Amino acid sequence: MAAEIISGKELALKTRAELKEETNKLISQGVTPGLAVILVGDDPASSSYVKGKEKACAETGIYSQVDRVPSTISETELLEKIETLNNADEIHGILVQLPLPDHISEDKVIEAIDPQKDVDGFHPINIGKMMIGKDTFLPCTPFGIIHMLKSKNIEISGRHAVIIGRSNIVGKPVGQLLLNEHATVTYCHSRTANMKEITRQADILVVAVGKEGFVDSSYVKEGAVVIDVGVNRNSEGKLVGDVVFDEIKESASYLTPVPGGVGPMTITMLMYNTVLSAQRFVEREQGVK
Ligand code: NAP
Repeated sequence: MAAEIISGKELALKTRAELKEETNKLISQGVTPGLAVILVGDDPASSSYVKGKEKACAETGIYSQVDRVPSTISETELLEKIETLNNADEIHGILVQLPLPDHISEDKVIEAIDPQKDVDGFHPINIGKMMIGKDTFLPCTPFGIIHMLKSKNIEISGRHAVIIGRSNIVGKPVGQLLLNEHATVTYCHSRTANMKEITRQADILVVAVGKEGFVDSSYVKEGAVVIDVGVNRNSEGKLVGDVVFDEIKESASYLTPVPGGVGPMTITMLMYNTVLSAQRFVEREQGVK
């Protein structure tokens, strides 16, 4: 059985077109959704992610501003910039591109962002709300994965989802969102014993390790849904995932490619959260909430 490939690129185009309609509605009410990005230093990968975000804003009609600051900026100065954006009515989403230089605490920076503008969904208040299933901003990569599964009407409820990876931005929250959708969830990580025995039980396998070729067909049950979150450069400098694509595509039922899979959906869900934040702003202004 050859797997159906879930194209994040195509779903992102469709979702961005729908978001543009929502943006137009907001603009007709006098509010343009606004996203502010702070980029510290000149790391090429971070710069390229930020460019992708600016492009996506332009496509969806979202106003974007990027504050590029040198890596020598002090933590206090950065926190002051965030505070200014917290108080700016035209800005509905704030994102500080990670990673940050060692002299700046990522935790302090994340916690300085107003939870009502935390469109990355990293603030502890928003993570807590996600845990208990309350309205919040869902972290973009996990949210994009759920969106991809739903776009293909893939059953989540009652199925066994196995996540390889337990980072705060991908592994843990994707497991939580799958649990919220009534999956039975198992996490694997670097100390997991007999990992293949566990991953071979997965109906849905999410791989978020960051190692090229980590998952080959010996990890995957025939007919499983495989979501490859990994982004790696191979020896030829090409972008590849964590999964041996050519092997898994022969046995999985669904598979996401790299590039063109989870990546485009991550940025799209950032746009989604920014539009949602602007909608919530309008509701608050109108005294609805
Ligand atoms: P991370 O913070 O480095 O976490 C990697 C996880 O993999 C950790 O939980 C680690 O376990 C686990 N791991 C490492 N070696 C392992 C092994 N030998 N066996 C089992 N588990 C192992 O990475 P991340 O931020 O979650 O990102 C993971 C990958 O996704 C990266 O390639 C990243 O570039 C990519 N990513 C893609 C997107 C996107 O939009 N496409 C977004 C975010 C991240 P321990 O916790 O035990 O160390």
